[in-house]
Amino acid sequence: MATAQPIPAHGRAAAVRPVGMSRREFMRRTGGAAAAFALTGGAMGDAPATARRKGQPATRPGKTGLVSDPIYKKHKTGPGHPESPKRLDAIAQALAARDIAPHLAAVEPRAATKQDILLCHNEALYDHVAERIGEGAATLGWADTNVSADSLTAAMKAAGGAMSAVDAVVAGEVANAFCAVRPPGHHATPSKSMGFCVFNSVAVAARHAQAKHKIARVLIADWDVHHGNGTQDIFYADPTVFYFSTHQSPWYPGTGTKAETGRGKGEGFTMNRPFAAGAGRKEILGAFGELAVRMDEFKPDLVLISAGFDSRKGDPLGGFTLTDEDFADLTGLMLRIAREHAHGRLVSLLEGGYALPGLASAAAAHVKALIGS
Ligand SMILES: [Zn+2]
Repeated sequence: MATAQPIPAHGRAAAVRPVGMSRREFMRRTGGAAAAFALTGGAMGDAPATARRKGQPATRPGKTGLVSDPIYKKHKTGPGHPESPKRLDAIAQALAARDIAPHLAAVEPRAATKQDILLCHNEALYDHVAERIGEGAATLGWADTNVSADSLTAAMKAAGGAMSAVDAVVAGEVANAFCAVRPPGHHATPSKSMGFCVFNSVAVAARHAQAKHKIARVLIADWDVHHGNGTQDIFYADPTVFYFSTHQSPWYPGTGTKAETGRGKGEGFTMNRPFAAGAGRKEILGAFGELAVRMDEFKPDLVLISAGFDSRKGDPLGGFTLTDEDFADLTGLMLRIAREHAHGRLVSLLEGGYALPGLASAAAAHVKALIGS
């Protein structure tokens, strides 16, 4: 048991700007260096605002990191599309609440590089995405992949934001983090974007954690109403990344049966719990309870959540019945797994969620539970 233990800092400290502090004020207080650090993706020394005395271990402060950026709203999907920029406005409004905002610290998202994207996707996919968007195409040419002029920049910063959140959590700059990013990512496979997703941000974050921070084992838990086929594909033969998903079945994208458990060395490191429409607290919290037991063997060093809120009751793209309280309880369960095995290191990423008021209240319940940790 490794509860509330100081964690060692790996690599550079991340630049963390308190929510509510303007970028200008942040620049003033840190002599500009920390902000420049964030903007350049960390291509300089430790940020003064976050520097520690040599040899002093990072302690875990109480704040929850929040990754957000105006670019995430510039990925345009067209009129009437459920995966719209308004989703982030709804979440931002909910997170501005008096009992949430003061407990958040902004984590500046970097832009992922092509090399980062290639940790999980093949070069043909990256080039295809860059080319189509560069040509001004309205879709990537695959189903449910509407894009606009700024979609490549947004997708690179969605993956990069998740990487920055991992850096901030591993360095102990924030207790945990939520990434309010678009486009979502869990349907993106090594070779194909699909289902509103361009690049698989949670997968890139997992690989980044392993590559940069020498983290051995990563858990990705996915409570989106849809199966994260892309994340499953990327890690299907990999025993170092455990993928767990609860999702509606039969439903888009059609994958994620209980029999899909991994391949080769990865056998036993994928766990799917599909449920019929109408499933809710009992089924899904029950499945996450099973996951907690399985994690006593796997012992993740980092916990990532594909937080889709389309599994909430009333979502137009799903038939599950989870409530805001259920999302708070699921979050609590994930925090316990993180505390027990991973020094509390947990990063959550927005995936789906399409009923704006429900998305906002569920995300707020989730973040409040992260804060409460
Ligand atoms: Zn979904």
